[in-house]
Order: sequence, then C-alpha cells, then structure tokens
Amino acid sequence: MRLSVGCKGLDVSLDNQLAKFRSALTKGVDFEHLMPMIDQISGLLKQQEASFVTSERDLVNSILSAGKQLQKTKGLPDDSRRNLRHLLDHEIGNVKALRDFIPLMEKLVDLYHQALQAKLKAAGSDGSSSETEQYVELARDLLALSNELMFDEDVSDEVKAVKNGIALTDSADKLLDASIAIIRIVVKSIARERQTAQGFLISLNQTLEELNQSIVQTSEQSKSVNSALQTLNSQIESKIKNLSNATQSATSIVELKALVDDELKSLSKDLVERERLEQLEKSALIASFEFINERVNQLESKVNNYKKRLTEQRFRSLLDGLTKLPNRAAFDDKYNQEFHIYSTTKSDVTLVVIDVDHFKSINDKYGHSAGDKTLQVIARALKMSIRKSDFIARYGGEEFVLLMPGMPLEEANGPLEKIRKTIKSIPFKFKDKEVEITISLGATQLKEGDTPLTAFDRADDALYEAKNSGRDRVCLRQ
Ligand code: GH3
Ligand code: MG
Ligand code: MG
Repeated sequence: MRLSVGCKGLDVSLDNQLAKFRSALTKGVDFEHLMPMIDQISGLLKQQEASFVTSERDLVNSILSAGKQLQKTKGLPDDSRRNLRHLLDHEIGNVKALRDFIPLMEKLVDLYHQALQAKLKAAGSDGSSSETEQYVELARDLLALSNELMFDEDVSDEVKAVKNGIALTDSADKLLDASIAIIRIVVKSIARERQTAQGFLISLNQTLEELNQSIVQTSEQSKSVNSALQTLNSQIESKIKNLSNATQSATSIVELKALVDDELKSLSKDLVERERLEQLEKSALIASFEFINERVNQLESKVNNYKKRLTEQRFRSLLDGLTKLPNRAAFDDKYNQEFHIYSTTKSDVTLVVIDVDHFKSINDKYGHSAGDKTLQVIARALKMSIRKSDFIARYGGEEFVLLMPGMPLEEANGPLEKIRKTIKSIPFKFKDKEVEITISLGATQLKEGDTPLTAFDRADDALYEAKNSGRDRVCLRQ
C-alpha cells in the first residue's frame, strides 16, 4: 500500500487503479482477485515509463533552447553568462533522474531573473535617464568597435576627433552622427584602397602589354631578317657554284682572271651585306632585351611596393588599435598554427585566458578613458612579463589570451602567479586615489583528442573557476 501511495500523482488513470487496489487490499480481497488489477496497473506503469523518457527529452530540449535564447541576449553580466554556459555545457549532461532537473530549472530561472535585472538596471527607473544610460552603453560599444579598426595615418586626427566625440555622447543624435562619421572614414579608406589596387593593376597590365608588343615586334623583325639572310645565302651558294663551273670551262688564264675577278667582287658585296644583316638582327635583339629587362625591373619594383603595402596592411589588421597587442584574428591564426604543430609533435602547449576583475567598475567610477588607459597599461605589463616564445593577444574587451609553447601545465603555475602579482602591484591612481587592479587566469594544456575549441573552453572553464572562487587567482585545468 505504501508503495502504491508513492506512485500517486503521476497519472489520473493510474491513481484510480491504485486507489481501487488499495481499497481491495484493506478489504482483504483474495490474491486471485487482485491478479487482474495488478496486471492492469503494470500496463499503466509501463506506459508511464515510456512517457518519462519523452518528457525528460522534452525537458532537456526546452532547457537548452531557453538557455541558448538567453545566451543571445545582450547585456547579460559576465558572471551569469559563464554560469549559463557551465549549465548548458556540463550540468545538463550530468542529469540522471527527473528530479535532478529541478535545481537546473531553478538556476535557469535565476539566470533569467539576473538578465531581467540587468536590463531593468540599464533601462533605469525613470524614462529619460534610462535612455541616456542606454546611449552611453551604446557609445561604449561603438568606441570599443572603432578601437578595433586601424585607420591610415592621414585620417588619424579625424578619427581622434570622432572618438573624443563618442566618449562624450549621451544622446541618440550625437551617437548617430558619430556612427556615420566612422562609417564615412571607413568607406573613404576602402575606396582609396580600391583605387590604389586598381591603379596598380592597370599599370601592371600596361607594362605586360608593352612587353608583349616588344616581343612580337622583335620576333617579326627577326623573321624578316632571317628570310633576307636565307635568300642571300642561296645567292652566295649559287655564285660559288657558277664560279666553280666557269673555272672548269675556262680556256685561258686571262678569261679566268676576268671571270674570277667579277664573281669575287660580287661575292664580297654579298658577304658584306650578310654581315650587315646579321649585325642588324643582333642589335635589334639587344635593344629588345634591354627594353624587356627595363620593363621587368619596373614591374618587379611595382609588385614589391604593392606587396609591402599589403604586408603593412595585414600587419595592421592583426593589431589591436588600443593596446597595440595582436588582436583576436591574429590570435586565431597563431592558435591554429600552434594547434597544428601540437597535433604532429605532441609538444607541451599551455593556453591561458586572462580577464581583468571587476573592470566595469573602473569604467563606471572613473570614466571610459581611464578604463582605456588601464587596458593599455595592463597590456604593456602583460607583454613585458612573458617569455620571448610566448604569444599574448587581446581577445576582446578586458580579456587577454596567452599561448605558451613548450610549457607543461604543471610548470605554468609559477610564471602565471608572477604575472598575476605583477598586475596587482601596478600603482594605478585615479582621481588621486590609489586603486588596486587584479586579474583572474584560467589555464590548460593542449591534450590528445582536443580541438582548438575544446581546449579553449577548458581554459575558459578554469577562468570561470578562478572568478567563482574569489577572483585574483590562477586556476589550472588538466
Ligand atoms: P569580472 O570580474 O566578472 O570579469 O567583472 P567585469 O566587470 O570585469 O566584467 P564585465 O564583463 O561585467 O565587464 C567588462 C567591462 O569591460 C564592460 C565593458 O564596458 C568594459 N570594456 C570592454 N572593452 C573596453 C574597452 O575597450 N575600453 C573600456 N574602457 N572598457 C571596456
Ligand atoms: Mg570579461
Ligand atoms: Mg572582467
């Protein structure tokens, strides 16, 4: 009877059958009469089992889709975002029974609550200030984005003015103006780049055309000279033959002398002509070679110039504008390379994700440009604290990534602790107040079976642990 009460509440028809069963038991009905009831109840329980499986699957799906939806929302605090990712990537996979879903659901509802709070906070209590705050937030985003763009030197003043404008923006109009100004500068520089590329291609084409013409001309000239030479050669041949015949048939020395004299004079003229034609062909070839050589040299220097320009551009497109560290695109390149090397050599590579603690409060308390300056100082300090063979990049916002080839994880703690302490000991001063800034570091080592993504996620998990266990620390994850 207790067992049957335990099943209560799962399904109405099962409840009814169990109630009947219980009442039969209290009445002391014969086991024989209970049998059909038990059969029926077993059937219903089986159905119940099947429906559990489907509802469990449905539940997983709806938690995943609700969670993913939440991940797409803007303005979710970093902490909540990490918690959410942990829930979706790990916790949901560890569910073993239906009731394990309850704490997950509670967590998800809590995260939704935090997202709502963040949104409400951003929206403010009264209408006007909420809009202002929203625009300030948007302006920050725009500034961060424009910091990622590298502009040409000659527009740097223009860019600086626009950036200063953005930092002071708190209205939609000004924000719109600033956005348009940035887009204009970008469009202008793209147009200019396209023009340069076009100019380069046109001049390349011209030079190639000239080369082609010169080669065709030389070859035609050479052909006509050759045919003239051939005619001359057969003329000479036939004259020699004539001379030989005449020598045979000559009857007196005087006659022979006159004949040989004439023929030799004519032959000598032919030979001079042949010499002239050969010389002509030679000098035409030399001239043509010189022309071609000059054009090829020109071409080479044009291509080299353009190559240099492209290399400079590529170099700049891989640098972060604010900190001058390699940016995320550069990191992705380097990380893929290192990963490739690792997958063939299985050498030790440690990957570290670094995040500045409570950075938002620096911006909030001392302003965005103080925040920018702080990032620059931290970036420089990070760069100075790593080995020559390490690679550091600004991954985005206040996050940095460090690659340490040749470093096993078990030896990484020392150097990483040193970096943490270095940043902590920088004497930041805002509004005459000394402020301590700390970082959290999460590290892992590339291992068998990894993809670049799984390894990165593991480092990020380690960072999450560092954040959750109080920040200002290094966490390692095997
Ligand atoms: P946590 O310790 O959990 O990492 O807290 P946090 O405040 O550092 O993290 P959160 O993600 O909440 O805030 C990061 C802030 O970094 C928000 C954003 O305004 C600021 N930020 C991102 N990029 C830049 C930038 O280029 N310049 C400035 N000044 N601030 C930036
Ligand atoms: Mg962050
Ligand atoms: Mg942070």
